[in-house]
Amino acid sequence: MPQTMIELPTEGMVAVYERPRAPFELRRFPIRAPRTGEALVKVRMCTICRSDLHSYLGHRPNPTPGVLGHEIIGTIVALGDGITHDMRGDALRVGDRITWSEYFVPSASYLADVLDLPHKSPGVDKYGHMAATSAPHHHGGFGQFCYILPRSWILRLPDGLSDEEATPINCGVATVICITELASLRIGSAVVVQGLGLLGLYAAAVAKTRGARLVIGLDMVPARRALGLQFGCDHVFDPSAIDDAGLVEAVRTLCRPDGADAVIEVCGDPAVIPAGLSMLRTGGHYVLGGVVNPASVVALDVNVILRKLITLRGAHNYHPRHLVEALDFVVAQRTRFPFRALVDARYGLDQVDQAMRDAGDRKVLRAAIVPEGVTPTTSGLDRVEP
Ligand SMILES: [Zn+2]
Repeated sequence: MPQTMIELPTEGMVAVYERPRAPFELRRFPIRAPRTGEALVKVRMCTICRSDLHSYLGHRPNPTPGVLGHEIIGTIVALGDGITHDMRGDALRVGDRITWSEYFVPSASYLADVLDLPHKSPGVDKYGHMAATSAPHHHGGFGQFCYILPRSWILRLPDGLSDEEATPINCGVATVICITELASLRIGSAVVVQGLGLLGLYAAAVAKTRGARLVIGLDMVPARRALGLQFGCDHVFDPSAIDDAGLVEAVRTLCRPDGADAVIEVCGDPAVIPAGLSMLRTGGHYVLGGVVNPASVVALDVNVILRKLITLRGAHNYHPRHLVEALDFVVAQRTRFPFRALVDARYGLDQVDQAMRDAGDRKVLRAAIVPEGVTPTTSGLDRVEP
């Protein structure tokens, strides 16, 4: 029998959009007991990732009527059979606050089990990327509840970590752990971060934590450059205030003697790639982490890659080990970097339209949906709150 609270709710609310750019509506969908390998959580917080905006705006295909939100934490309401411990071996109980991988895989596969790329295995699906009409309906963060589906990876969150620090771990932070691993950062590396949105700020902080001697952040938004200096950047530049040749020269002057050891693209604009490649030293690493949309086309002189022995890597999703490292990074560095300040606005489940607008207009850095306050169908939920 599944471990559960005394009384499961019979239904829960989900913020659904009918088609790209249509307003969100709150709809009720039924709740059932979690099946084998599943858990049911009450969503505590879901932060809006840039990819939620891309999906909503129709920049990439996403099934509709849609449920968005994959950067989520929640409180366990019920555990299905077979879900007893998290990926680190800590026991899971009803009432625990948890994070989990942003994706799940349907079954064993060559890519997952032989090549150790579970995040790229056939049929991989992500929370907040499925139609609301697909059972069990509650599979995104813009809702009161979310089912954690089989072959996801769960981590219990330590007490003392705020929801604001914990929520971006399963997308933003874990992705950056993956990106910086692919960049082969070493003690003493000189690193350039193209784009100081949430990923770029975490990238600067992770680069410093991995031992970088020098981190240079590039962003057109003054407030983000100011934040960059709080998150590990030693220097920041406004790429719109200087031409590419001047920017490359400025970066190379700082990264003596031959240029940057690694350049990390997390701005989503393929036009920055040629200049980024020119900032690298011979044998340097360039990692693409932001150009997530199809048709991100750019003209490159690939002879530069050949001649300078450059390693070019793409990062998309992350390996489950990066989720563990992401949590450990935030826990260990939370007094060094003001992670909590990154989630700078809260919205109710009935304010998703406003939250998406503010996030899209870059009025806020990381908007958080906090569904608490929407009345559930039964009052039993309060009994599982810690
Ligand atoms: Zn994301």
